[in-house]
Amino acid sequence: MKTLGIYVQVPFCQTKCTYCNFHTGVVDSSRFAPYAEAVCREIREHRAFYTHAGVALSESVDHGVVDTVYVGGGTPSLLDPAHLQNILDAIRTTFAADFTEVTLEADPETIEREKAEAWVRAGINRVSFGLQSFSDKELVAAGRMHRRADIYRAVPILRQAGIRNSSFDLIAGLPHQTKESWRQSLDELGMLAPEHVSVYLLEIDEGSRLGKELLQGGGKYSAGAVPSEDEMADYYEKAQEILRAAGYHHYEISNWAKPGFESRHNLKYWRREPYLGFGAGAHSFSGTERWANAHDAADYVAAVQGGRLPVEQQERLTAESALEEELFLGLRQLDGIDVGRIERDYGVTLTGRFDPLALAGLVERDGPVVRLAPEKLSVSNEVFVELMR
Ligand code: SF4
Repeated sequence: MKTLGIYVQVPFCQTKCTYCNFHTGVVDSSRFAPYAEAVCREIREHRAFYTHAGVALSESVDHGVVDTVYVGGGTPSLLDPAHLQNILDAIRTTFAADFTEVTLEADPETIEREKAEAWVRAGINRVSFGLQSFSDKELVAAGRMHRRADIYRAVPILRQAGIRNSSFDLIAGLPHQTKESWRQSLDELGMLAPEHVSVYLLEIDEGSRLGKELLQGGGKYSAGAVPSEDEMADYYEKAQEILRAAGYHHYEISNWAKPGFESRHNLKYWRREPYLGFGAGAHSFSGTERWANAHDAADYVAAVQGGRLPVEQQERLTAESALEEELFLGLRQLDGIDVGRIERDYGVTLTGRFDPLALAGLVERDGPVVRLAPEKLSVSNEVFVELMR
């Protein structure tokens, strides 16, 4: 049975975090309902929309059984639960569906008992919780809406509503973060014992307010208090140590899970399995082709209302780019890549390509398998740069 993942993008936030320059907007809530209706229409009419936009779906994608759904953003927990219910119902009635994992990204301050209960009734069984830090000083500096107390208020609500699979995000490298405050965040997260954890190194978009301050100077967004790259690498390594000791399985560069709680949906991205993305800016992958919808939410809604899907960045993958994806996405997983299988599939010889990396101690070899060296994960970008040479 071929399975299919579905991603739904909700590009709305309550405020703009200082480091973020995603295509998300702070808009009046009156725009949520037309947006959700446009997403439902895109889902229901995706075949006609794709044909019109020149996107070809393979048989296996067209008849794939949807087993994972991921509603991300932005802050999709801002939507009325009825909108989320309508979107999930549109998926159920349009595709062959046998949902095993339905994830909603949620920010702590948006969580209320009635909402959480409605999410569970709609079929959401996993919440990816953007908590980022337990330090109010760091949360304030980053422009986040929630505070530490919101996390402690929200977690029991989710659990009492019946969410048995939660993922907590932390960011290493927020302004004002110190060794001690990072340790405190890791310890508090450990006490709340989520089933899944993501740890991201702060990436500052040049176009964000913090990015501009870093380039041009100023003190409004605490650019001067951003930890150094070496400090961030230390924080990441501390997370590796603490999460390992707490029984989490480190399965992808940024992701840890209690046994059996690895994100089934996100594994599809790293394994290059097909997924369809709906909503403004959503990306899709059919196995041979990648495409994305236009980013601007208002343009997206207007186009869909007019019976057209605004597809951009359409790319049919060459054998060479597919091979590069196999290496980069595959190596993000700590199990590594089966070089023998890739050589057979692509008719290439790769052995020499890993020699300098193995010599530098950046990757390990285990028969046909190559994986990133666990103690070098904090510098994985070096591996990817080296691989491109
Ligand atoms: S970091 Fe997330 S919550 Fe913050 S503005 Fe960007 S998309 Fe919205």
